[in-house]
Amino acid sequence: MQKNYYQPEAETMSVEDIKKIQNEKFIKQFKHVYDNVKYYRDLLDKNGVKFEDIKSIDDISKLPFLSKDDLREAYPYGMLATDLKNCVRIHSTSGTTGKRVVAFYTQEDIDLWEDCCARAIVAAGGTKDDVVQVCYGYGLFTGGSGLHGGSHKLGSLTLPMSSGNTKRQIQFMMDLGSTILCCTPSYAAYIGETLKEQGYKPEDNKLKAGIFGAEPWTEEMRRDIEKSLGIKAYDIYGLTESSGPGVAFECEEQSGMHINEDHFYAEIIDPDTGEVLPEGSKGELVFTSLDKEAFPLIRYRTRDITVLTREKCSCGRTFIKMMKPMGRSDDMMIIRGVNVFPSQIEAVLLNKGYAPNYQIVVDRVNNTDTFDILVEMLPEDFSDTPKTITKKEKKLQSAMKEMLGINPAIRLVAPKSIARSEGKAVRVIDKRKKMGINI
Ligand code: ADP
Ligand code: ZN
Repeated sequence: MQKNYYQPEAETMSVEDIKKIQNEKFIKQFKHVYDNVKYYRDLLDKNGVKFEDIKSIDDISKLPFLSKDDLREAYPYGMLATDLKNCVRIHSTSGTTGKRVVAFYTQEDIDLWEDCCARAIVAAGGTKDDVVQVCYGYGLFTGGSGLHGGSHKLGSLTLPMSSGNTKRQIQFMMDLGSTILCCTPSYAAYIGETLKEQGYKPEDNKLKAGIFGAEPWTEEMRRDIEKSLGIKAYDIYGLTESSGPGVAFECEEQSGMHINEDHFYAEIIDPDTGEVLPEGSKGELVFTSLDKEAFPLIRYRTRDITVLTREKCSCGRTFIKMMKPMGRSDDMMIIRGVNVFPSQIEAVLLNKGYAPNYQIVVDRVNNTDTFDILVEMLPEDFSDTPKTITKKEKKLQSAMKEMLGINPAIRLVAPKSIARSEGKAVRVIDKRKKMGINI
């Protein structure tokens, strides 16, 4: 099979060349930040690091980490590394975990970001002949603009739908023959569910691939979406702080996402100690941008938990791969002393034949954590008697116990009773946080 790349010279360069380019770019990027960002100079002073201490990328471990709190503290202009007059765009995080962070872009920053997204579309099999339906949100959120820009760069026909209005999404998908769908995985699942309700079979649409990201999703969810839409589903990762989607993207192997290493340097650290971990270890992903002008970040803690591997990939790309993030370190719930990730719950549900429509509710009553998982019944189960429903709940409970090590209360609820998401799904309601309980 002929291999396609958007920028083959970058995407397939030797590992030695990657390291060389990263080193050259890092030194320049570090100087740029040092010269232009007072907040960063102060942070170095506080940590006793001098400019002369950093001679190559091997010295990066001497530098302090930057956190989301730093960016919040520096809001809005404190991390800006160029004159605002040189900037052409602002985006902002979704605010999933607190106050939004704003990021700035020069035209060059936008160009590189869109190149990264174009690489992702090509890796998913996209060409200029494709019709790319972008139903990530447009506006301050980076999802819409990123994939939109990537699709333009490639010369594909771009359908700038933004999120929401699912009926219209489906009408245009069918009438205009969309071949690539870009949105969050939870929205893709909802589009699949709605297509079925409207009487369409997976083979009725012209879609061949989907590029889904912006939130954690499991392999089980991938299979579910692939089946319901009749496509191959590819993961894409990114965060506003480092431009947006396209920091890493999946190829035809669908076994982890290649990080665009000519633009980003990735490390994995122990989230508790900050120690850098060797390749193959699970930990928190830390990014350093290598050529950003307006909003460069050195050693930015993403809080996303993943594993990096440089195993050879059959697609021919040489960039290191990151495994599907399990979720953020702050998505992890500690319930009755046990660590629980929503993605583990999703995996069990889909393995047991349920749809990915669920909500986790955690509370504390009489000093004990309560742990409820609301799961929608499948429409065909809805007619069951209370006795059969209880039996099903018990079965699901024991599967959860096996995966998580603790017993949640399972509540099977009516189909369509859990709100669908058009963007990032809200899976967890942790009432303990509102009560100010330190968890
Ligand atoms: P916020 O941090 O407020 O949600 P963003 O919209 O910039 O702001 O989202 C970036 C975050 O989304 C990442 O840090 C990560 O937690 C999550 N994310 C993005 N892509 C993926 C993906 N493919 N898999 C898992 N999580 C993802
Ligand atoms: Zn690959």
